[in-house]
Amino acid sequence: MSCIFCRIIKGEIPCMKLFESEKTLAFLDIGPLSKGHALVIPKHHGAKLADIPDDQLTEILPTLKKLVSATGAVDYNILQNNGTIAHQEVHHVHFHMIPKPNDAEGLGISWPSR
Ligand code: C5P
Repeated sequence: MSCIFCRIIKGEIPCMKLFESEKTLAFLDIGPLSKGHALVIPKHHGAKLADIPDDQLTEILPTLKKLVSATGAVDYNILQNNGTIAHQEVHHVHFHMIPKPNDAEGLGISWPSR
């Protein structure tokens, strides 16, 4: 299996896991654009949003909201790229939650224990 996010889901590649449910996994981005930058992915493999069945997407937005709460981010971007021209590098659907710290130190984040 060559999809790196499928390998993360299977536990073949480590990640900083934040939340996991039957259909969804959230983990810290390995190359964060800001402190707390995290990804939410459906466990169902599909390259683009339109490739994922609706029933596999139901936990995505609630999980993104959990990440926002956990970081305490006030300002943040939710981002989802589809296709190489749209700057998608990993071709397994993923949603970025990118906190936008408003101070020089960044957000002081303490993740809840799991
Ligand atoms: O939306 P896009 O495909 O460009 O983003 C892919 C993201 O996946 C990048 O932010 C990259 O840092 C992240 N990534 C990761 N863990 C990996 C491989 C990529 O968090 N093992």
